[in-house]
Amino acid sequence: MFTLKHKNGIWYGTFQHLTDAKIKHGISARLGGVSKVPYATLDLGLHTGDDKAAVRENRGRFFQALELDLTKAATCEQVHADRIAIVTEEDAGKGAEVYEEALQGIDALITNVKDLPLLLFFADCVPILIVDPVHRAIGLSHAGWKGTVAKIGQKTILAMQQHFATKPEDCLVGIAPSIGPCCYEVDDVVAEKVKAAFPYWEDLLTPQGRRWRLNLWKTNQRQLEDIGVNPKNIAVSQVCTSCNKELFFSYRAEQGVTGRIGAVISL
Ligand SMILES: [Zn+2]
Repeated sequence: MFTLKHKNGIWYGTFQHLTDAKIKHGISARLGGVSKVPYATLDLGLHTGDDKAAVRENRGRFFQALELDLTKAATCEQVHADRIAIVTEEDAGKGAEVYEEALQGIDALITNVKDLPLLLFFADCVPILIVDPVHRAIGLSHAGWKGTVAKIGQKTILAMQQHFATKPEDCLVGIAPSIGPCCYEVDDVVAEKVKAAFPYWEDLLTPQGRRWRLNLWKTNQRQLEDIGVNPKNIAVSQVCTSCNKELFFSYRAEQGVTGRIGAVISL
C-alpha cells in the first residue's frame, strides 16, 4: 500500500511493506519548496534549468522531513540506459549537491551500506524501489520507456543477486508515482520495442487510434515476476503523475519544462 504523508509542509509518499521492513524511504511531491514557476515548488533536479540554490534548499527540506542526511546521499546522471552502480562508502555524497559529481552514465544504484541514501529524480519515469530484507541490501532504478524495455528493474535485482546474494523471491518492491496507462501514449517505434522485449506485450499495450497506450507499471512489474519476484511483494502506487500535476512534476503534462520529484531509499 502507498500512502501520502506530510511533515513541516513537505509531502511525501511511502510504501507500507518497506516501512514494515524498517527501510527509510520516500517519494517527494512538489509542495513545500522554494522554487518558482515552472518549477514550483519542491523541484529536486539540479539539471532542469531551475535555480540551483533553490534546489539545494528543496533537497535539504525533503531529507529533513525524512530524517535522512543529504550530505551522504548518492545520486547518478540518469541517461535512460541500463547501467547499474554498486554504491560503497566512497560514493557517499556524490551528486547530492553538485550535479556534475553524480555517478556518470548510470540509471540504477544498489548498496548494502547503512545510512547511505540512494537518491534519483523523476518527472513521469518510473521509480522502482527494491529491498532485500534477508541480506539487508537495497536498490533504486530509473525506468522510463527505454530503461523499462532494457529491463533495468530486472537487471537491478540480478545485480543485487550477484553482489549481495539477493534472492528475487525475498525482494520487496515499490513502483512509485509515474505516468500511468491512462496518460502514456507511445508511437509504433516504442510499441515495436515493447513487442520485441516482452512476449506478453498484448497485456502491456492498448491500441489508441494510430498510436498505443503503454502500461509502464505493469511492464516493470511483470519483468520482475519473470525472474521470481513474488507478485505479493510488489506494490504499485497506482498514482499517475500526469493526472496529478498539481501534486507531482510531469514532463508530459507540462510539455517538458518542469521540475523533478525525488525517490530516496536508505538502510
Ligand atoms: Zn494519468
